[in-house]
Amino acid sequence: MNDMQTTMMQLPLNLSHFLDRAGKLFGAQEIVSRMPDKSLHRYTYADFYRRARLLAEALTRAGLKPGDRVATLMWNHYAHYETYFGAIVAGGVLHTLNLRLAPEDIAYIADHAGDRFLIVDDVLLPLLDQFKDKVNFERIIVVPLNGEPVTGGYDDYEEFLKTASGDFEYPQMDENAPCAMCYTSGTTGRPKGVVYSHRSQVLHSLVQAMPDAIGMSGHDVLLPVVPMFHANAWGVPYTAAMLGVKMVFPGPHLHPDDLLPLLESERVTLSCGVPTIWLAMRQILADNPGKWDLQPGLRLTVGGSAVPEALIRDFAQHDIEILQGWGMTETSPLATVSRPVALRGDLDEDERFKVRSMQGYPIPLVDVRAFNDEEEAPWDGNTVGEIQVHGPWITGSYYGVPVSEENFSDDGWLRTGDVASIDGLGLMKISDRTKDIIKSGGEWISSVDLENAIMGHPAVQEAAVIAIPHPKWAERPLAVIVLKPGESVTEADIKTHLAKHFVKWMVPDAYDFVESIPRTSTGKFLKTALREQYQDWKWDDVAA
Ligand code: ADP
Repeated sequence: MNDMQTTMMQLPLNLSHFLDRAGKLFGAQEIVSRMPDKSLHRYTYADFYRRARLLAEALTRAGLKPGDRVATLMWNHYAHYETYFGAIVAGGVLHTLNLRLAPEDIAYIADHAGDRFLIVDDVLLPLLDQFKDKVNFERIIVVPLNGEPVTGGYDDYEEFLKTASGDFEYPQMDENAPCAMCYTSGTTGRPKGVVYSHRSQVLHSLVQAMPDAIGMSGHDVLLPVVPMFHANAWGVPYTAAMLGVKMVFPGPHLHPDDLLPLLESERVTLSCGVPTIWLAMRQILADNPGKWDLQPGLRLTVGGSAVPEALIRDFAQHDIEILQGWGMTETSPLATVSRPVALRGDLDEDERFKVRSMQGYPIPLVDVRAFNDEEEAPWDGNTVGEIQVHGPWITGSYYGVPVSEENFSDDGWLRTGDVASIDGLGLMKISDRTKDIIKSGGEWISSVDLENAIMGHPAVQEAAVIAIPHPKWAERPLAVIVLKPGESVTEADIKTHLAKHFVKWMVPDAYDFVESIPRTSTGKFLKTALREQYQDWKWDDVAA
């Protein structure tokens, strides 16, 4: 017998274990979903377990073979949660389609992935109508959320589940077999597919749950605002099932006016979403002091774009803790979190907020480095470089695309396209995406730093800063600002505010006060659209 044979049992890391745990250990736990008519659907993990297994069996009876794609076009609710596991334990590959993309982009993505089955919300059929002729779905299964019979020759999800007997054995899946896929939003070029494995998602969940990562436990009540089509809802559905977390799904109602009563009535302890959601909620909380009795110590995991320090401070005043996470569709997505580390135990309050507004240190099993030209940037908190990342839940390639220098380093690290510095304790601070950097007179200006500072002005609701071509300096920053209702400030006020934080040449020369800032399909500020909008900007009147 060799040493390899005398170690531990060689069992594959498999998501079917999470489903079984959820059903067998946490059957009494509740899952709440807000329906399109705003009523609440309630059932338990026992129901979820039974139905996810029925779905797996029904898909198998309908011809699903290991590796087949099961696409979803769905909001966040119980049936999407069932599909997250049902499609996967049947050996299929869950492919979450982003319902906020243009119909032709959804068609391209579904076609490129080779989607065979589609599970779609009835309320999204009008969207499906706009692209279904361009995709070869073999079978379309409709979830009857609004209680009306399913028509149009599609399968009714509830009837489909009835084709199963309840007697189902999971196929044996290798831990490296694909379980899910998700496409990047493709703000530059065509969207690219990322394929996750059972192993990557099991490991991601184990580490994500750690107290020093996002800290999720079976005592939590979780409301995922992040859509289940955005980077696996940041992986939280798998982690929640592993732990038996009470789920509160918001359905299609994602406005803070709808979220706040749900956070209150279901006693939510943990939520997650992009900063724009919480910026809007900040205003509503400020306008209605004491109106909602939220669970004390409510935690929000916020990421997808940089989280302004002012937002973290404002929520702290409402006893709501914001934890910033950084990652990408390519990184499952969690790679770093912004917890003040033990080695900085002596930080004062201001310094702690500073750390929280950084993107933080890598979670276990992930390595991060910054690269400047051919060299690794020193960890001095100052030198910036492109972030490269490495780990068992970081993609090693894009689906159907040859591995290229553009996306991966020679030694196999993912090139993220994010520019950041790393300090002596390994805390990362993103200053930009490469494509958003402002290059002024040979120097780089961080649009993220400017935005955060502008959003720290008490009259400002939101701000985005973009580069505008400039005849003398190559590029100069322009700030696009949305003020809080009823506020009026001038360009000069904002400049004075910025002068406290930045040297003069970094302060934007131009300001535009607008009603709203365009958003991406995942709710981030859409800088490509802003750059187009301001492409004819004239600097004539501005001091050069
Ligand atoms: P996309 O934004 O292209 O739709 P992703 O949701 O995968 O796709 O976004 C990944 C990108 O989001 C990262 O490369 C980074 O630029 C940005 N990002 C994510 N989290 C943060 C964060 N906490 N701070 C700053 N940027 C972030």
